[in-house]
Amino acid sequence: MDNITILIVDDEPINLKLVAESLNDRYNILVVRSGIEALELLKNHHVDLILLDISMPEMDGFEVAKELKNNLKTAHIPFIFLTADNAQETIVKAFETGAVDYIIKPFQPQELNVRVDNRIQTNHLQRQLKRALKKNTHLLEVVDQYVSFVKVDPMGIVQEISSNFCKQLGCLKESMIGQNINVLKSGNMTDNIYKKLWNTIKSGQTFSHDMHDRNFSGGTNWFHVTISPDYDEKNNHMGYIAFYENVDDKVKYKIDSQTDSLTGLMNRTKIDEVLLNEIKRVKRYDYPFSIILVDIDHFKEVNDKFGHQAGDSVLKEFAKLLSENIRESDFLGRWGGEEFLILCPHSNADGALVFAESLRKKIEQFHFEFVGHKTASFGVVEYAENNTQEMLFKLVDEALYDAKERGRNRVVLSNS
Ligand code: GH3
Ligand code: MG
Ligand code: MG
Repeated sequence: MDNITILIVDDEPINLKLVAESLNDRYNILVVRSGIEALELLKNHHVDLILLDISMPEMDGFEVAKELKNNLKTAHIPFIFLTADNAQETIVKAFETGAVDYIIKPFQPQELNVRVDNRIQTNHLQRQLKRALKKNTHLLEVVDQYVSFVKVDPMGIVQEISSNFCKQLGCLKESMIGQNINVLKSGNMTDNIYKKLWNTIKSGQTFSHDMHDRNFSGGTNWFHVTISPDYDEKNNHMGYIAFYENVDDKVKYKIDSQTDSLTGLMNRTKIDEVLLNEIKRVKRYDYPFSIILVDIDHFKEVNDKFGHQAGDSVLKEFAKLLSENIRESDFLGRWGGEEFLILCPHSNADGALVFAESLRKKIEQFHFEFVGHKTASFGVVEYAENNTQEMLFKLVDEALYDAKERGRNRVVLSNS
């Protein structure tokens, strides 16, 4: 109990001595012989507890108590009445003035010590609690202002939403509370992602993923979302808490670095990466896999006759035509100038040939803006055991070359 100061106020020197001695040497003790002296001393001394006699000349203990409570500087100092007066109404009055305890003289030194110790301990805890509360309140305010989060019930109904997230979404707190969190779905994520999300959090685990959400300003955002089950103090499942970190810049950068800016298709770097992944998967799961390389015939003529812009326009239309006609499980990328690569997992050579032939016909029949009809040639190769990426490229390129050699506007299967 270091640095705890107790002020004893009593008009009888013998009482002061008795109380001071009873409190051993564990506290700093200050003594004064009147209420006026006490109030004077409190102007420039820090005191943790006051032991206050009631019956004193000039100013009695109750009056001192009233003064203490009236002064902002002293109102918080706890005081214990110490008096020989044990009348019921005196005790009641004592507590009414704000005393924290009441000790009747003559007292047992042990009892005095226990009561004083208790009070000091309680003070200490209260101070700690106040400090912690203040700190937490501040922390919660900071979290509300700077962190995007939502609390939902087990059905996904929003219970709480931070100011920061409301600001990002462009909505009011009141308008979000009570709504299903589904309102944020942009429609651009696969159902599988949401299924995985719910399965993960329902099993008590944390789900973390980049998600595309709509906002209330008419736009969309990418968020790195982390969702965990939420429990109260009694460990009851309250729902889920989701934290949102805006990753628009990161995702945009990632998408840019993987996308061909003219056609919006995967660029060569990306389609290469996908091809490597597919080769790994095929090796592990052993399913047929084919690739198709498409090259527009006499494309140079387009540029020469109609200009580069018309050429670009054809490339865009061509990319669109291909992407509208591939299966959902296929991958399409711009491989080079007017060459496009299609990866067809679960297609063997025959399947890929049929598919390439159907594409060839669609292209042949298509009317391109500015230039009218164009054709394309196709090389096709089916993955064979231990083929590397380089080998597949070489084979499919040779097949395409063959198609050009044999008059263009045709599909050729690699004869490896
Ligand atoms: P082939 O039938 O043998 O494939 O003949 P081609 O003219 O299509 O082939 P070639 O490789 O000789 O020419 C391809 C042309 O594609 C040359 C190049 O200027 C053009 N090209 C490549 N990238 C772009 C592009 O992004 N925009 C435009 N407008 N033209 C491009
Ligand atoms: Mg060409
Ligand atoms: Mg070419």
